[in-house]
Amino acid sequence: MSLNAGAAMRVVIDAGHGGHDRGADNGLVYEKHLAFDVARRVEAILKAQGVKTVMTRERDVFIPLSKRADISNSYRDAVFVSVHFNSASSRSATGLETFYYGTNKDSHALARLVQSALLYKTRKTDRGVKYRQLYVLSHNKRPAILVECGFLSTSSELRNCLDPRYRQKIAEGIAMGVIRFGRGGKVR
Ligand SMILES: [Zn+2]
Repeated sequence: MSLNAGAAMRVVIDAGHGGHDRGADNGLVYEKHLAFDVARRVEAILKAQGVKTVMTRERDVFIPLSKRADISNSYRDAVFVSVHFNSASSRSATGLETFYYGTNKDSHALARLVQSALLYKTRKTDRGVKYRQLYVLSHNKRPAILVECGFLSTSSELRNCLDPRYRQKIAEGIAMGVIRFGRGGKVR
């Protein structure tokens, strides 16, 4: 992959939750820590490709959702990616899903590119690209998605999520999709 793969964009990487907001918590691990780890990996991959990045949090600290959207909106060239892990009352839920919201066609294109790269990298179940009014998406003026990287509530998938090699694949998938988007691989 060449340098300046996404010279025209700045990727705002949003590690979900943080501080007192642990996110999904199964007693073994908190979502906020796994999301931050994946976010850092995405940052490293993108930087190595010459893509500009911003992290909405640099450590384990609480950042309000409004602040996360504000950070994205403060950059004209922002592409916003929020990283989360899933939880469900059903202990057998598996797979990956990517959310987008609004009439911004670019958000839908970004979601499709990232979801397909994630499935390619991980071979996980496709839960689909979904339209949902989530705060960080609905208050975002830039192309914006939220990725759910696996279920901490399902034991087989939890094992994956705890494995750094799986988290690296997730990060590679997110980065691949975002770079394709930045190159104009927009699905219209
Ligand atoms: Zn979450």
